[in-house]
Amino acid sequence: MFTAIPFPLNQMISWTALKSNSSLSVHVEGPLGAVRRRLDHCHQKVQKHIWASGRQTASRFCKLHANINVSKTSVSDNYSQVHLQQSSEQKANSPGQNASVVLPKDEDIVWPSAQDKIPFWRKEFPTRQATSKATINVIGQDSDIMHIVHVTAEMAPIAKVGGLGDVVTGLARACLHRGHRVEVMLPFYECLQKEQINDLTLSDTYLSYHNGDWVSTRAYRGHVTGIPVILIEPANQFFKGQRVYGGSYNELEAYLFFSRACLELMQVTATQPDIIHVHEWQTSALSLLYWDMYHKLSVKKPRLILTIHNMEHYGECRQEQLNICGLDGSVCSTIDKALDDRTIGHNPERLSLLKGGIVYSNAVTTVSPTYVKETLCSGWLSNTLMQYCEKYVGILNGIDTVLWDPATDVFLPAHFQAHEIEGKQICKQYVQRGLGLDSNLLTVGKNSTSKGNDSPLVVCITRLVAQKGLHLIRYAINRVAELGGKFILLGTAPDGRVQEEFEYLSNQCKESNNVRLLLTYSEELSHMLYAAADIVLVPSMYEPCGLAQMIGMRYGAVPIVRRTGGLADTVFDVDHDQSHADQPNGFVFEGIDEGSLNGALERAFQYYNEKPQLWMELVSKIMRIDNSWEKSAGEYINLYNSVRVR
Ligand code: ADP
Repeated sequence: MFTAIPFPLNQMISWTALKSNSSLSVHVEGPLGAVRRRLDHCHQKVQKHIWASGRQTASRFCKLHANINVSKTSVSDNYSQVHLQQSSEQKANSPGQNASVVLPKDEDIVWPSAQDKIPFWRKEFPTRQATSKATINVIGQDSDIMHIVHVTAEMAPIAKVGGLGDVVTGLARACLHRGHRVEVMLPFYECLQKEQINDLTLSDTYLSYHNGDWVSTRAYRGHVTGIPVILIEPANQFFKGQRVYGGSYNELEAYLFFSRACLELMQVTATQPDIIHVHEWQTSALSLLYWDMYHKLSVKKPRLILTIHNMEHYGECRQEQLNICGLDGSVCSTIDKALDDRTIGHNPERLSLLKGGIVYSNAVTTVSPTYVKETLCSGWLSNTLMQYCEKYVGILNGIDTVLWDPATDVFLPAHFQAHEIEGKQICKQYVQRGLGLDSNLLTVGKNSTSKGNDSPLVVCITRLVAQKGLHLIRYAINRVAELGGKFILLGTAPDGRVQEEFEYLSNQCKESNNVRLLLTYSEELSHMLYAAADIVLVPSMYEPCGLAQMIGMRYGAVPIVRRTGGLADTVFDVDHDQSHADQPNGFVFEGIDEGSLNGALERAFQYYNEKPQLWMELVSKIMRIDNSWEKSAGEYINLYNSVRVR
């Protein structure tokens, strides 16, 4: 659990803290003056131990803070790192429990405008200092420590396209906090943001098989937001290009190569993790490679977990393509292995890597209990899942509360938390001004509330694909404006025609005071939008879990969602949900038609406009909901324990 003591606007300083059994370590880093000021804001009970090295001595720092116990600090000319220790009495991190947030003064805020040459979300931001290796502390040691290796195509924030990246990072961090040894293996995409990787070093050079050849391959090790990573870089064209997906190489072949290269590295370095956790079709072949090949060599110990984040992508593959990684495609091409049942009798018949992963993994998870039920009842893989239902479970995703914390988020112009909500209104004003949407002038201060007198701001942050309810998003754009609200969409479409259509819509509402469609990918802007939003809209046709509604709630945005998959497991209707009467936290609709969405929108707007006090209470309540990885990580650990070899 992290607690965070946030920093004043426009000062590059960040705080993170980790609670261990007996103490709470606090790490603060930034320009010297800002660090000094923040120390003055520290909780009375904090015993301050400063670890020193570098040019400035601890005693100089001590003079500035007579009440600080100094052991060490690291201070350069104008930059400092301070580690403090706090007594265990102080509770760690949920947005409701942090130390106070400091609101920026009005004159300190550089308000953006739509005319700015560099849009406000593209300016320089301080790097997240949770990236330091030192900030991963063990919080509650599990009794039986495991070595867990994730093998994945995505990892937030360095290679994130959607929820997969968030999930890998959040789950890995949660297991590290419980004392386990965790590593994430990822392709060394050319587009990785290398500045976000700490301690990057070449650890191994080896050969890995591909299409009758052995390709020279490098393994690099480093840390990403404190999490150990192993980056696999083949000396061929794989993983080159400016995007995680959609490069000019053959993606199927590249991920088959990557899956084998991860096992090959374990083989050549004699590494025997307890668990190899693979994700999606991209790394499903690893389970086949393991049982058919590497387990017969010397990698004997690992057991395999496959997590399916989205059943829609099943890794279609022909026999000869599977041969490329050294497997025998004809052996795998049977109905009880990886054959796609729907292609029986076709020429050629095809395989599904995901199906192979289901058959060959020791346990299979998906990302919410409701999605388990849905996938057992529909879709072509339901037969296979039924057959293996004893090893198939739904574990609800959490969110990474280190990367997603409105009390410390480096991308926000002001911070806030459940009991200190004022900063949220600043974020709303900031975003609206920056995008040229009508925005009442605001006086910053304790008397301002998260809900001003202005209209509700609805945001939708999503990949623009059919799954996400494109027709409902289109409908909401106009309907929100008609209802007197503002609407901001942040999204990109992998399909060029959809992108074009939304670009057309975006141009149409360029001059609107109420609508902006931003057809780009921006992690920074997504954080600001969640913070600014009164409502986060997730109108998915199906949604295995969905993170936007959970992130939205943590940032005080009330969710409007369609009742499906993980949305049904995390959002309970304020007016209608009798079975969760104690935990209503949003507005839910059932149908896939515009009328159903409209009903939920109207109810939410009525609530916002007519019951401001209740709305504020709802905002404060949803911010306190614990959607962190803590609980779900426990379920994963139990699952790992149930399959591992001792
Ligand atoms: P999916 O994995 O299906 O895309 P999720 O809701 O599980 O959906 O996760 C989506 C993640 O991607 C969230 O963290 C969301 O904020 C982020 N995201 C989606 N589109 C964008 C975008 N255009 N810019 C920034 N972040 C985005």
